[in-house]
Amino acid sequence: MTSPEETSPLPDDFGRTFVDATARTLGGSADALGDLDRRAGDGDFGANVRTAMKNLAAALETDEPAGYREWVTAMSRAWLGVGGTSGPLFGMFFRDLAKAGYQDTEGQQDTAPTPASFAEALAAGQAVIQKYGEAEVGDKTMVDALAPAVTALREAVAAGQDPVAALTAAEQAAVTAAQETAGTTARRGRASYVGEAAQGVIDPGAAAMALVLGAARAAAEGGGAVETDWIG
Ligand code: ADP
Ligand code: MG
Repeated sequence: MTSPEETSPLPDDFGRTFVDATARTLGGSADALGDLDRRAGDGDFGANVRTAMKNLAAALETDEPAGYREWVTAMSRAWLGVGGTSGPLFGMFFRDLAKAGYQDTEGQQDTAPTPASFAEALAAGQAVIQKYGEAEVGDKTMVDALAPAVTALREAVAAGQDPVAALTAAEQAAVTAAQETAGTTARRGRASYVGEAAQGVIDPGAAAMALVLGAARAAAEGGGAVETDWIG
C-alpha cells in the first residue's frame, strides 16, 4: 500500500479548473436543480445557484485568483452572499475545501492540494455542514452525497490510486447516493415541510454536491465534461 504522501499531486492549475468546472456545471444545471427544489422543496434553489455563480463571475472580473486557495475562497464567498439554507452551507463547505491547498505564511505560494489533503478538507467541509445544518446521512440533503464521496476518496487514496481514479470513485459514490435520495423523505430544510410529496424526487442539494465532485474529477483530468443528464 502506498502512503498518501507518495500519490501523485493534482495539476498545478487545479484550483482554476475546479472552480471553472464547478461554475459551468452548476450554472448549466441551475434550471434542472431549481425544478427538483420546486417538486421537493420551496423552489428557490435554482435562483440561489444562479446568484452564487453570478457573484463568482463578478468577483473574478475584478480580481484574478493567484492559486488554489484563492480560487476556492472566491467560490466560498460567492455562496456566502446567497440566501436560503444552501448559501451559507456551501459557503462554509468551500471555505474548508480551500484549506486543502498549501499556502506559505507570506501568501506567496498557493499550490494545489494532494488528493489526500483534498479528502481531509472534504471531510472538514462535511463536518461543518453537519455542525450548522444538523443533518445526518439519510435526511435527504447534500450530506447524503458528500459523506460517501469522502469515504470513497479516502479509501482510494489509501489504496494508492492515482488522482483521476480516486476522484472518479468519489464522483461515482456521490452521484449514486444523490440518485438514491429520490427514495428518501427529507427531515431537514424546506423539503421537510412537503414530506412524502418529495418521494421520487432527487434532493437538489445532493445533486449539486455530486456535480461539485464531478467538477473536481474533471479538473484532475485537466478539464473535461461533467455528466449532468441524470438530474433530469
Ligand atoms: P432551503 O431549504 O432553505 O430552501 P435551498 O433551496 O437553498 O434551501 O437549498 C436546498 C438544499 O439545501 C437541499 O436540497 C438540501 O440538500 C440542502 N439543505 C437544506 N437544509 C439542510 C441542512 N439542515 N443540512 C444540510 N443540507 C441542507
Ligand atoms: Mg429551497
